Amino acid sequence: MGTEFDVIAAYFDLPSSREDVLLGVGDDGAVLRVPPGYVLVVSTDTLVAGVHFPQDTPAQAIGHKALAVNLSDLAAMGAQPAWVTLALTLPAADRAWISGFMQGFRGLLEQEGVALVGGDTTCGPLSITVQALGWVEPDKALRRDAARPEELIFVTGTLGDAAAGLHCWQQGIQTPHSPALIERLCYPTPRCALGTQLHAYEVRAAIDISDGLCADLGHILKASALGATLYLEHLPLSAALQAHLHQHPVALEQYPALNGGDDYELLFTAPAPAEKDLRRLCTALQIPLTCIGHTHTTPGCLLQTPDGRHISLSRRGYEHFAPAC
Ligand code: ADP
Ligand code: MG
Repeated sequence: MGTEFDVIAAYFDLPSSREDVLLGVGDDGAVLRVPPGYVLVVSTDTLVAGVHFPQDTPAQAIGHKALAVNLSDLAAMGAQPAWVTLALTLPAADRAWISGFMQGFRGLLEQEGVALVGGDTTCGPLSITVQALGWVEPDKALRRDAARPEELIFVTGTLGDAAAGLHCWQQGIQTPHSPALIERLCYPTPRCALGTQLHAYEVRAAIDISDGLCADLGHILKASALGATLYLEHLPLSAALQAHLHQHPVALEQYPALNGGDDYELLFTAPAPAEKDLRRLCTALQIPLTCIGHTHTTPGCLLQTPDGRHISLSRRGYEHFAPAC
């Protein structure tokens, strides 16, 4: 009986300096104050062992990732993150595991100034559900349905590292580059500071890349009733991924930068005149920014190769070779 409450008191009842938490962990619900003039943005994601992360993932990485993927969703909404709840289902009250998990979770909480305000702790197969809450000015949320034709398409950071990291992990591939790729899989960086500023730079549509570039760009295109052209040679690849692909070449269908998930970079569209200021903003935030294509009213998503071919991409990968145009 005591164990559950001991665990809550020991690991989840964290000190918070946020004055907008009127009541946090310890009651039947949290009482939170949204600043006047803002609206609440809420996002929830579940991670299940063996589905969303390998069973042998270190507890610290699971803690970091469970929070990171949720903060990434708020960033993609243009919302300022403020509070989270944590529903943890554990096979056992293994204190070493919980301590490691909370080390990862808490590190990112503190980094982003976010408070853990409640949750639930139950016994069962390992699964973690985090709900992230934040705020945005009314009508300033970044929406999947708000992209416009002839906008530039940007991504932050590099693409495909996490998928290649998972491949290395699952295949037992150990190269000088595999640790960097696995690090990206385990410790994604939510782009919180950038997300909240994008609206001021003419950005109206954004998404975070959780399922892969094609799938997630596909969500924006479908919601906005647009098509897009991407430039293959512009896709930002890390040095580690380039070296990995050199040693382990893949067909375009398996190209991690197009179809690999778990990168948690931001993808957004913006009118061309906004590019210069967006670049200045990202330089100040030390976030790499790459223009990878543009939107258009012609439906479908095309990939332009350096030799001038246009490959038709589908949400699940590429479908067929279209004639060069
Ligand atoms: P209840 O029976 O009302 O659901 P619980 O016994 O589940 O309450 O939880 C007691 C308090 O501890 C609540 O305030 C709840 O929000 C908090 N809590 C439980 N588990 C967690 C957790 N994993 N992380 C953060 N807070 C938690
Ligand atoms: Mg409960």
